Amino acid sequence: MKTLAIDIGGTQFRMAVFQGDRMIRRETRATDRAGGREWMMQRILELALEWREEPGYSRCGIGFGGPVLFDRQRVALSTHVGGWSDADLPGELERVLGVPCIMDNDANAGALGEAVFGAGVGCDPLFYMTLSTGIGGGIVWRGEVLRGADSYAGEIGHTVIRPDGPLCLCGARGCFERICSGLWLERDYERPAKELLRDPAFVARYVVDLAAGLKTVVMLLNPERIVIGGGISKAGDRLFEPLRQELKRQMTSWSRARIDVVPALLVDDSVLFGALALTRLIDSTSVPTL
Ligand SMILES: [Zn+2]
Repeated sequence: MKTLAIDIGGTQFRMAVFQGDRMIRRETRATDRAGGREWMMQRILELALEWREEPGYSRCGIGFGGPVLFDRQRVALSTHVGGWSDADLPGELERVLGVPCIMDNDANAGALGEAVFGAGVGCDPLFYMTLSTGIGGGIVWRGEVLRGADSYAGEIGHTVIRPDGPLCLCGARGCFERICSGLWLERDYERPAKELLRDPAFVARYVVDLAAGLKTVVMLLNPERIVIGGGISKAGDRLFEPLRQELKRQMTSWSRARIDVVPALLVDDSVLFGALALTRLIDSTSVPTL
């Protein structure tokens, strides 16, 4: 069986075709934020229609970079690209492509991808965090994404780590995303995150904020493992070693919760693999009404 997987992000979008669990096609392109929803739909359909002929596919999974109302299969909104409020993205794709589609937000898809195929196999519960343009989170518990009562679980990016901190795009002050995400690092320090992370003095300060955000996850969820994906996670040991040490230092003294924090194994493809895993729900009874 072949599956089309789509990862719609704020700075890039990726598409792939899987044969079974093996990726056989893959394309990455830049997202034109000014182009909005119409531009994005055109680009997606161009490739999707081309691939419908060759290599072909019979179902489609989507990871969307913004809140998704999973039960209703609708985009709630996009914080990075305009025009997506209340969008029936799977419905639109189904009508044009003629195959069943299923969608979740990209962090939930990334979490599922790492849980089924990546660094989180066998970990329960698993917390996945994407640390890139923004910060997103996803929880996998007993093999399934834990979405919460209204599909908003795991949104770690807007927990507050500095109440008197700078203003976030969401209107609150000192959000985890506002202090630690790539977009804001670049704006605050006028250097790309990649460059900043080569400086041990910067990393030493940065992990204090990063650990403050992750401490919330450990205290609330006691995850068997935390997997971090996204561009910043590519810094490797020079980020993860100080981060683990700082998180241990910040943990409440009596807590014996494990500190197991690792980079994503699927690197840039966690969401695509998650979109693939998501399509398994199309056949199951827990599928939302499409
Ligand atoms: Zn915020």
